[in-house]
Parts: sequence; C-alpha cells; structure tokens
Amino acid sequence: MAVKQIDHPTLGAITLSQNARCRRISLTIKPNGAVRLSFPAGISVSRALVFAESKADWIAATRRRIETAATDRHICTPDEIEALRREAKRVLPAKVEFFARKFGFRYGRVTIRAARSKWGCCTSENNISLSLFLMTLPEHLQNYVVIHELCHTVHHNHSKRFHALADRCMDGREQELRKELRNHHTA
Ligand SMILES: [Zn+2]
Repeated sequence: MAVKQIDHPTLGAITLSQNARCRRISLTIKPNGAVRLSFPAGISVSRALVFAESKADWIAATRRRIETAATDRHICTPDEIEALRREAKRVLPAKVEFFARKFGFRYGRVTIRAARSKWGCCTSENNISLSLFLMTLPEHLQNYVVIHELCHTVHHNHSKRFHALADRCMDGREQELRKELRNHHTA
C-alpha cells in the first residue's frame, strides 16, 4: 500500500492511498476535514484525482456538516464562561433597561446565570433572569429574548395577548425570530 499526501489546488490536503486490495475508488472525509482518496493498484493517480474533483460539491458539503457538528458540540471552558459572564453583565442589564424604557415596562432585578436549559425567565415578582449564553447569539436574537421576558412582566404566560404584545414590540417579527432562535442552543 502506497500512501502519499498532496496539496490539491481546490480540494486542499488529500491523502492518496493506493491499495492492491482496494476494488474501486473511494473518498472519505476525516473529522479534521482532510480527504482520503483510496484507489486500486490499476488506477493512476490522475484518474483517481479526476474522480475526487467530480465530487467537489460533496466534499465541501461534508466538510461543512463536520464543522457545524463540531460547533454545536462545543462545550465552553470555565474561562470562556467567565468571559461570557463579564460580557453579559456589561451588556444585558443595559439592554433590559433600554427596552423597558422604550416600551414602558417595569421590572425588578436583572440577574445573569449560567443557565443552559433556557435563555431567560421572568418571575412573578417581575425579576428577570438571563442566561450568560445569550452572548453567543447575534444581537437581534438577544433583543428578542430580552423583549420576550419584559413582555412577561405584563402577561405571565404565553397567551395570545402575550404574543400580540411581543409581536408589537418586535415590529411584527415575533414568530420569525422565535423560529430563528430554535436553531441556536446554549453552549
Ligand atoms: Zn416566555
């Protein structure tokens, strides 16, 4: 078995593995995104590469899938969590105050927690608790969560009236933002 590493101009690093026992050309993508191209002894390197090039879209899609899965699996280290906490304390209470003033909500305290099961909650005393993992979201989704919790100071439920109020505060985008948030998970 002959193994050789090449740097392909469009596909990047490829490990070529020519193997007498191999019956056909096959491609595999390693967890690090590297391509392994295995092919039988009777087939030339250039012919095997033509095959790999014909699968460029599949290679790109597989690499993207691996990358996305790795991002989703990312678990924050204690240092990363502390950095998020500092950032959250700097940003989120000010956001709550900003939107409360803008829409006329009254609330009690704002606390920042390392909550993983939910982005935020609002108690019956109208104290708002927000997850520090909100800092991993784009700003428009942070705003969505903050406004959602502030609307709970008026309606402590998810009734039609609650959603109507939230929708008014979000320029009619409440449903759209709620769906978008479902694609995100606390780290
Ligand atoms: Zn809610």
